[in-house]
Amino acid sequence: MMRQYELVERVTSYDPDADEALLNRAYVYAMRAHGTQKRASGDPYFSHPLEVAAILTNLKLDDATIASALLHDTIEDTKTTRAEIDSLFGEEIGELVDGLTKIKKLDLVSKVVEQAENLRKFMLAISRDVRVLLVKLADRLHNMRTLDYVPEAKRNRVAEETMDIYAPLAGRMGIQWMRDELEELAFRQLNRQAYEMIASRMAMMREVNSEAISEIEEALTGKLADSGIEATVIGREKRPYSIWRKMESKSVSFEKLSDIIGFRVIVGSIEDCYRTLGIVHTTWRTVPGRYKDYISTPKQNDYRSIHTTVIGPRHRRVELQIRTREMNDVAEYGIAAHALYKDGVPVKSGNGDGRREIESGAYRWLRRLVEMVSEGNTPEEFLEHTKLELFQDQVFCFTPKGRLIALPRGANAIDFAYAVHTDIGNTAIGCKIDGRLAPLISELQNGDAVEIITSKAQSPSPAWEAIAATGKARSAIRRATRDASRKQYSELGRQILMRAVDRAGKSYSDERLEGVLPRLAQHNVDDALAAVGRGELPSRDVLKALYPDYQEERPKGGAPS
Ligand code: MN
Repeated sequence: MMRQYELVERVTSYDPDADEALLNRAYVYAMRAHGTQKRASGDPYFSHPLEVAAILTNLKLDDATIASALLHDTIEDTKTTRAEIDSLFGEEIGELVDGLTKIKKLDLVSKVVEQAENLRKFMLAISRDVRVLLVKLADRLHNMRTLDYVPEAKRNRVAEETMDIYAPLAGRMGIQWMRDELEELAFRQLNRQAYEMIASRMAMMREVNSEAISEIEEALTGKLADSGIEATVIGREKRPYSIWRKMESKSVSFEKLSDIIGFRVIVGSIEDCYRTLGIVHTTWRTVPGRYKDYISTPKQNDYRSIHTTVIGPRHRRVELQIRTREMNDVAEYGIAAHALYKDGVPVKSGNGDGRREIESGAYRWLRRLVEMVSEGNTPEEFLEHTKLELFQDQVFCFTPKGRLIALPRGANAIDFAYAVHTDIGNTAIGCKIDGRLAPLISELQNGDAVEIITSKAQSPSPAWEAIAATGKARSAIRRATRDASRKQYSELGRQILMRAVDRAGKSYSDERLEGVLPRLAQHNVDDALAAVGRGELPSRDVLKALYPDYQEERPKGGAPS
């Protein structure tokens, strides 16, 4: 387990002005809060938030994010409350930890794929601060790394969720290494046989290809050095999942895919990228249709690089990615990397100016990230056609079984009850929000877990119609109150009629009434009785219809009853 000082040193190494006292307090607090709790692996529970924090130091995130990572499971899993976090660490961190606590409820959701769209919207809606998403991604990454300790039954669900939601999210945020690792870990769980087959074939190919790889690497480095270009050439290995995906989607054979040798060429400037491209293209024959310039036209997640494929030495197909160091950092670490550069030049930290640069840079990238996550034009992308503002009009709440219910903002527990089921709405008498009793008119907040308390004897109050925010609830209430009042009137009508029948010395039955409905111009017994109850249909008329021989008694001097 990482030591306290090690974590603090990691943070101060990229942000010398980080609040060390804050980090120390969060470390000690979280460690004490989790106490003797254990992970499925048998490790102390605290090792988990600590690893999550460590992952985030790789992304060079600010002290508040690292502290939130340490604290991310405290509200959900220990006695800690939001108020306590607020008072000890300030509201900024309180807000972050609270957001993570709410997302954590997603782990309860059972059929993820069906709800993926709502889950994504939910995450974005409560993550107006993108740092919440970053901590959540690191949390999921560590949970995936330790997935083998989780009970078998749960593993596939976690892996599917990772594949459906978290890996695309990491990609959307431009953190390629995290996306790759999440995908590989999920693929290994979901299709272990294929994973192992591909991995072992890859190991074999590595041996076969090793000579060719170093030969090409040498040739490439030599050519560039001859032209005075300082370049780092890195051999690039394909990942089992990306090979699998291509085998599946393009029906390309494993041999064909693994035969291709990939290199990344990292140079000092954009000019050198194009000079390198020129040298490569004049030295080796290019493979048509494989050249892509993402420098002049960056991908949506800010990915920049030149891609090309040539027929290299020994007639081997060689895939090349040519980019600057900054572009490489952005590709690996996402927009976070921008914070460390100013106009392509690394920001020197350690002096006052550098610090200011990092701060404004950090602010910029956070904002960019929100924009990026909220954009998206292609179906593969995280957020299909919807914009972030849209979700701000919605609240997402959970049923006790973890079903996610999307409601318009301003909706209350009455709306929630009707959204779950009309019967639940019609019999609701109260509710619990996050385990606490609350009035049904309570406005719901994102992430609330809502339990509706019902009673069969209950029918909805007509006043609810004005309180409900959703059309579904309003029309159901209208229908229910109409039904309820009709029921009351028909009961009243029945009593009136039975008394009248009784007084006439006859006996009443529904069947008999049914037989004379057409004469009374009524559709059914209940309608007829309700009409009597409302006073629209005199009981005398019904009596006459029921018993045509009935002669009305005329009490002397009195009006007919
Ligand atoms: Mn966690």
